[in-house]
Amino acid sequence: MSASMPTRIVIIGGGPAGNSCATTAARLGAEVTLIERDVIGGAAHLNDCIPSKAMIATGNARQFLRRSARMGLADVGSEVDLEHLALRLRTIESRLESQVRSLLSSQHVELIHGTATIVDEHTVRSVSEGGTFDHHADVIVLATGSRPRIPDWAPIDGDRILTTRDAYPPKSLPSHAIVIGSGVTGVEFVHLFESMGSEVTLVVSRQQVLPGKDPEVAAALEEDFLRRGIRLFKGARATGVEREGDDVVVSCNDGRVARGSHVLLAIGSIPNSEDLGLDNAGVATDGGYVPVDAHLRSNVPHIYAAGDLSGRLPLSSVASMQGRKIAEHAMGALHPERSRLIDYDKAASAIFTEPEIADVGLAEADAFSEGRKVRVTKVPFASSAKALINDDSRGFVKIVSDPATGVVLGGSIVGRHAAELISVLAIAVTNGLTVSDIHESLMVHPTLAEALSEAAE
Ligand SMILES: Cc1cc2nc3c(=O)[nH]c(=O)nc-3n(C[C@H](O)[C@H](O)[C@H](O)COP(=O)(O)OP(=O)(O)OC[C@H]3O[C@@H](n4cnc5c(N)ncnc54)[C@H](O)[C@@H]3O)c2cc1C
Repeated sequence: MSASMPTRIVIIGGGPAGNSCATTAARLGAEVTLIERDVIGGAAHLNDCIPSKAMIATGNARQFLRRSARMGLADVGSEVDLEHLALRLRTIESRLESQVRSLLSSQHVELIHGTATIVDEHTVRSVSEGGTFDHHADVIVLATGSRPRIPDWAPIDGDRILTTRDAYPPKSLPSHAIVIGSGVTGVEFVHLFESMGSEVTLVVSRQQVLPGKDPEVAAALEEDFLRRGIRLFKGARATGVEREGDDVVVSCNDGRVARGSHVLLAIGSIPNSEDLGLDNAGVATDGGYVPVDAHLRSNVPHIYAAGDLSGRLPLSSVASMQGRKIAEHAMGALHPERSRLIDYDKAASAIFTEPEIADVGLAEADAFSEGRKVRVTKVPFASSAKALINDDSRGFVKIVSDPATGVVLGGSIVGRHAAELISVLAIAVTNGLTVSDIHESLMVHPTLAEALSEAAE
């Protein structure tokens, strides 16, 4: 590459990883081409984060309305209008897509609506309605995301036997939804269906919903599910799904059988890498994922991978950050102060159930199993004035800190707006702030955030 020529970056995939890489790289002076075969915004906007949260917001609104009498309102209707819901999802999706599109074009990113493959180490081919083109690239960024894993015992039909991608919007509301998989996506769907009025059974392969999460947090969710009449098949692994007329029947390895109107599989995802031509450039894979170093480089140094394809934490927020870091690294804009390497252990994450669940950094249970000395402080929302005003005092705030220095190491929040509130702890964990930094901050009264200040006392 000559010194006067701009760096040519070709990005495959227009999800959060690809978009953030494109805008940052273009801002830093690269000539960027982004190739997306579907919707700009990626699966995140079309199939995953956004439609799921938009539907959950509708379910939450319905739940609030059902409690309206307790808030001093006369009873109001709470029927779900599926046509309106579908329109709402399309409107949100197209608004977000046009926002991302205009951001990309304002940075002069060349957008190609087509399918991309790698031809060789420095060439990416796009195939679109406009023709087939080969694009020279100094740097290639792979950001093709992932899709739901479908086991061979599940005959997905998109009608009654669904993956997460068939559920937005639902063609009909399940009278009885069986959700297989009790990770983050599974429990969000349990909440979603129940809040829309469906009966729900959750097949949990372990003894705890949300395996890997703080047991106290998982127990709070489980208690809420049971209170809402959700049936839990614990320690049961699904082994077969069949349709019997309008019913679906799920068989489990312990002999139990669940019968419902719909079944939804939420048992993980697989990377979109098989048709990319990775072999043509000698890019190594592991289980379909592209292993990367701390700078998100594959084994071929000018070919980077980001987002779900990188096999790191599969979150939209992480994908965006990775995309930005790649652009900064590829453009040599690394600044030791401003541009740190990503510390995946410090990523905040949330589960959009009701109550919401959010956590960041070190969990109490992990500190305990590592034999690490920590200070744990917990404040229930039951003592918060704002929780009383909201007529919702479920949940708590928990802060894990270093007993010697007071540095905040992690925390969990269960309760309303937990996904927003966790940002305070995320800033503390990422920047090495102490509990007194939080306690000395003047918070607004009355707010749920005051519980954070109390827990930091
Ligand atoms: C149900 C569900 C809910 C979720 N909710 C959240 C949430 O609330 N918060 C959160 O942070 N994360 C959430 N996630 C995770 C999040 O959706 C992913 O981590 C995120 O989408 C990954 O971004 P990405 O850029 O790697 O890939 P994607 O968003 O999947 O984008 C990849 C893009 O690449 C395109 N592509 C693939 N192959 C090619 C090719 N050969 N040529 C051209 N284009 C190609 C695809 O069409 C796609 O648009 C959720 C996931 C699921 C399944």
